[in-house]
Parts: sequence; C-alpha cells; structure tokens
Amino acid sequence: MQDSRELITGKALPGDETEVSLRPLVLDDYVGQERIKRNLRVYIEAARQRQEAIDHILLSGPPGLGKTTLAYIIANELGVGIRITSGPAIERAGDLVAILTNLEDRDVLFIDEIHRLNHQAEEALYPAMEDFAFDWVAGKGPAARTYRIRLPRFTLVAATTRSGLLTSPLRDRFGISFRLDYYSVDELFQVVMRSAGILGIEIDEAGAMEIAKRARGTPRIANRLLRRVRDYAQVKGDGTIDRDIACESLAAMGIDSQGLDGLDRMILTAIINYYDGGPVGLSTLAASVSEDPGTIEDVYEPYLMQMGFLERTPRGRVATQKAMEYILGSTYKRKGLFDNP
Ligand code: ADP
Repeated sequence: MQDSRELITGKALPGDETEVSLRPLVLDDYVGQERIKRNLRVYIEAARQRQEAIDHILLSGPPGLGKTTLAYIIANELGVGIRITSGPAIERAGDLVAILTNLEDRDVLFIDEIHRLNHQAEEALYPAMEDFAFDWVAGKGPAARTYRIRLPRFTLVAATTRSGLLTSPLRDRFGISFRLDYYSVDELFQVVMRSAGILGIEIDEAGAMEIAKRARGTPRIANRLLRRVRDYAQVKGDGTIDRDIACESLAAMGIDSQGLDGLDRMILTAIINYYDGGPVGLSTLAASVSEDPGTIEDVYEPYLMQMGFLERTPRGRVATQKAMEYILGSTYKRKGLFDNP
C-alpha cells in the first residue's frame, strides 16, 4: 500500500505520468479558478488581436493546483510555442541565454519554481523581461566590454509555491500576477468525472464525490486518488467505482472523511494533547511528530488552515475549536464512548 503521505502531497510523484493525458488544453476545459480564466480570456484575446506577446505572468499557489497546466493553455490559446524549465535547472546566466535565444517571437517560456532561481540568473532575467535583451560582458577589468544581445519578444510565465520568497525587483517585472486558490469539492468533482471519462473509468457520481471531498482542494491529488481507487475497485470489486468502494479504499489508504491522513491527525492531536491546543512553534511541533518543518509548512498546514482546523498566529500554531471537536470526537468514537454514553 502506498504511504498516505505520498498520496496527499500536491507535488508531482512517479506514477503521475498519466497527468499529461489528463491536462486540459484549452481554457474551457480548465475547471474552476473563474476569476483567473475571465481575466486571461481578455488578455489572450487582446494579445491575439494585436499580434503581440502577452505580458509576463506570475502564477503562485500550492503544488498541484494547475499552474503548469495554465502555462500550456496560455501558449496553446495564443497559438505559440512553449519552452519549459525550472529555477533550479538554470545554473548560470548562460543557461538562461541559451534558452531565450532559442525562442521564437511571442513564444511562452515557463519557469517553474522561480523562487529557486539563483541570483546571477535572476539579474540576467531583468533586462530580458524588460527590454528583451541580454547584456553580455566580454573580458575582465578595464578591457571589459558589454554587448547587448537582442532577444525575441517572449512571454515569461513563472510559477512559484512561495511567492513570499520572490525579490521585489523580480515580482515587479510581472505585468500580470495570479494567485491560484484551492478548489471547491464541486470543482474537484468535475475534475474527477472529466479524468474518469478520459481514462475510461466506470464511476458513479457518489463515488466521484467521495474522492473529491478527500482531495485536499487539489486536482493533482484528486487524479491520483482516482487512479488508486480504480485499482482497488478492479481487485476488490467489479471495476466500477461507487460510494462504498471509494470509501473503503480511501479508508484503507488512511485518508479520512475530511481528507486528513495520519500525519494531519497526529499534528492536530499533538497540539491538543501536548500543548493544550497551542500556540506551539513550528519546529517544536515538527519534532513532536517527527516530520520535517518544511513539509509541515508546505503540505500539511495549508490544508489544515483551509479546513479551519489550524490557525497560524505570531506566537505559533493553534488548534481551533473545530479541530478539538473533530479529533476528540473521533477518539471517543474509536473507543466506543459515543455508543455507551
Ligand atoms: P502545478 O503546476 O500547479 O503543480 P499542474 O498544472 O501540473 O500543477 O496540475 C497537476 C494536474 O492536475 C494536471 O496534470 C491536470 O491533470 C490536473 N489539473 C490541474 N488543474 C486543473 C484544472 N483546473 N482542471 C482540470 N484538471 C486540472
């Protein structure tokens, strides 16, 4: 059985390759994020009419919400090419120049994890974004000369899970900036039904709803759970996913009715039982559940906060009333205390 920690991360994992076939190619097929789609439609149409490159776009939000997918859609809707790279893959300014000089006019360059771009490459990106030029310094000392290389008029679409880590000179160079939100259960239901259709999976609406409810607001997780539940339905049932099969297999994966996995529950239980509901600092909390603080901050906390189970305060993490009721309630239920009042 796959570790539930792997199932509920929004980050791409081995086994997610079918994602490519599930990726919507046009805005009309992209579920949710209505405000972003509305604005993008206008910008894309305007750029198309003027035959110009669209302004640089910054997409921020947790992993798995559809940033890369949007970059592909933008290029596709504009009818231009796209090059994909990521912050850590660009080691030197020269790597960036090699990519930029290979673009065609109006192409989209997608840089994932832009917050991990090193300083030298970031400095080189400024004139590229602003003046579509790269300043190349030949030689050293007093004999050094600067040459300006002209670049095609490209559009940079950059994605980040940590917009707070971006320097302001970089952030200011994006004409358009969108923050992606977690998806509602109804939207994830649509994602699940759409993916099941593409993959030829038999699923009824109640089954799709169970998966949607436990996908942590994240399409990538919804698709991953759908694949796992399909395996379960094939082996334990007749291959069709209904509510019972979905509930049974998700429970077997350790994911409860609120979409929480074992570590989510450990985090809340630790705050409630060891720290009287909080506040407790991130590193102390991480040590109590033996997990890396970065993983807790990036993967676990955003969902717990979204669900109203956890609050971040200046003095530390606090479990909400809702968390107390949920955790204590499920403990009593497990011990049979609700049945014998
Ligand atoms: P990110 O770049 O934010 O980590 P991706 O764009 O790679 O996320 O999305 C992960 C997967 O989730 C995609 O392959 C796609 O199948 C699915 N997905 C994401 N957003 C949507 C959406 N709005 N509608 C339908 N499917 C989506």
